[in-house]
Amino acid sequence: MNPNYTKIFADELARLEQNKTFKYEVPLEGPQDGTVIVGGKKVVMLASNNYLGLANHPKINEAAKKGLEEFGNGISSVRFICGTQTIHKELEAKISKFVGTEDTILFLSCFSANEGFFASLTNEACGYEDWKDVLYSDQYNHASIIDGQRLCNRKRTDKKVYPHGDMEKLIEMLEEDKDKDYRFKIIATDGIFSMEGYLAKLPELVAIAKKYGAMLFMDDSHGMGAIGETGKGTAEACGVWGEIDVVTGTLGKALGGAAGGFISGKKEMVTFLRQKSRPYTFSNSLPPSLVYAASAAFDLLENDSSFVTRLEENTAYFRKEMVNLGFTILEGKHPIVPVMLGEAPLAQDMSNELLKEGVYIKGLWFPVVPRGMARLRTQISAALTRENLDFTLEAFSKVGKRMNVI
Ligand SMILES: *Cc1c(COP(=O)(O)O)cnc(C)c1O
Repeated sequence: MNPNYTKIFADELARLEQNKTFKYEVPLEGPQDGTVIVGGKKVVMLASNNYLGLANHPKINEAAKKGLEEFGNGISSVRFICGTQTIHKELEAKISKFVGTEDTILFLSCFSANEGFFASLTNEACGYEDWKDVLYSDQYNHASIIDGQRLCNRKRTDKKVYPHGDMEKLIEMLEEDKDKDYRFKIIATDGIFSMEGYLAKLPELVAIAKKYGAMLFMDDSHGMGAIGETGKGTAEACGVWGEIDVVTGTLGKALGGAAGGFISGKKEMVTFLRQKSRPYTFSNSLPPSLVYAASAAFDLLENDSSFVTRLEENTAYFRKEMVNLGFTILEGKHPIVPVMLGEAPLAQDMSNELLKEGVYIKGLWFPVVPRGMARLRTQISAALTRENLDFTLEAFSKVGKRMNVI
């Protein structure tokens, strides 16, 4: 390769190191559980999206093996050519039932589901000679929603970003647009905002969408399995289950932790997406082992409430004890529990010290979160035993005192 090119890469990497935004990867020497092996040492895992502890659960692993045995490793095709197996249809039906919608379309990830959503609607004429659509997007929405919206043709789509959770501003925007002749109006939000563990204001959003005739889109990747009385996600936790027009999510977090994503909603919309959504029509279908594993995860949730109960109990216990120790956490109910530290170096050092004490946690700082709001983002799991949690609290207490945080 042209050495000038290599230099561009190397210079940018040096800049990342200097800005302390270089992302280091720490290889785990085994599966993802309540504890993991790092550098030959067993440490408590507090940085994973493995909320229900299904990433290496025997029943899920068993299902994945069965999928492999019964339907093979893969199917070497996209869905509409020869890549649809009966099990894809079954999983889609299961997800629809779980989120309370009519139909569901599977993708290889939620990232690609979100990439495959917005432009599929807005760039299609659908018999219109002239049309304009408008998107209203929460400022803190996930990168995949932002990128998905970038694929929309500028000439056809107005994009408006409202300040995080600011319903008044959203209403103001919708009022302004009330008499404009838009075809689709789409309000897009994360269900759970992952830096804070905050919930979207869904009851308000549902009412606002209804009032202005807009479509409400929610990505519930951090909500499904992690929150709600029966683990059905943010809509259940907010008392509006089944009232969201479009729900997207991942099978790579609470629900088995492997990979896969989906879009759920009205039958006509889902069938339309099967025709028009490019990551669906031009990319392979989900491998059978993943389909079986995800399917087993939904069955487990439906038939055994102990996973959700354990996650709730662990989260409540950890939140209470961290406050008792004197740490500042962001209040809430979600298993994402941010421990607020202020400055980036403190978060970096504390994360390193905690790892030495046997606890794996990642720090977040500017530009990922606002300046002066650096934090350790802890994530609680049903896979953690009380012993793991007490060990973690002890480590926090020790390191917190040593570093004058508490
Ligand atoms: C994790 C996450 C995604 C990406 O999910 P993948 O299935 O891993 O692509 C998308 N949206 C949100 C809100 C997420 O938290």
